[in-house]
Amino acid sequence: MTVPTHESPPAPAAPSDHRSRALLLDLDGVLLDTRPVMRKAWQRVQEFHGVALPFRDYERHLGREFGDIMQRLGLTDTEAVRQTYEAESVATAHLAEEFAGIVETLHAFVAADWRLGVVTSKHVDRAAPLLARLGCPFATIRTPAGAGRTKPAPDPLLLALVDLGVDPASAVYVGDMAVDQESAARAGVPYVHAAWGYGQPTAPDPETAASPKELLSLLLPAKQLVEGSTV
Ligand SMILES: [Mg+2]
Repeated sequence: MTVPTHESPPAPAAPSDHRSRALLLDLDGVLLDTRPVMRKAWQRVQEFHGVALPFRDYERHLGREFGDIMQRLGLTDTEAVRQTYEAESVATAHLAEEFAGIVETLHAFVAADWRLGVVTSKHVDRAAPLLARLGCPFATIRTPAGAGRTKPAPDPLLLALVDLGVDPASAVYVGDMAVDQESAARAGVPYVHAAWGYGQPTAPDPETAASPKELLSLLLPAKQLVEGSTV
């Protein structure tokens, strides 16, 4: 076995390795409760740009890329709105809080030899400082800055799997919005709905975890059994 190089992009696993597991996670509403930040940022947009649309209209589209949301809301001055939204998001980032148990849960998956990845529609400038706070070894972070289409397209999930060298069927995507579920379905990646997040799942009913720690009971024993049976 060769030692992985540190060239960019990261070297994938060996072609024969089809047993690596990956836990891919959405950011907003899965890793961190960023709703207070988003609410403040949207308030600022309302004030500065005379936008009457309430926050509930904005948050209905969470999970999509910002420009996509603006288009769906019928807003045209997208770049100016984006600048206001991002500046206020950075200024109020301290209001975001990690969900209880998420960090311990992720470390348990790492201890069970799963690789971690983040697939988010949040732009990298806003996502990176929030993720750094968690102190978890994310092996890949896919944001709209990368190649491909954004969620609900399967592209960012598939690109994360290329980064990690993991088969779609050997990964799980944990999300909280219908666009996450659709992206996973189109990528052929099993989906678990985070019920502690902001959205409702759609049909067909996905597996659902009530809390971050429930991901352990939902995913680890079965996966370990499968691994044990193939040794
Ligand atoms: Mg989310």
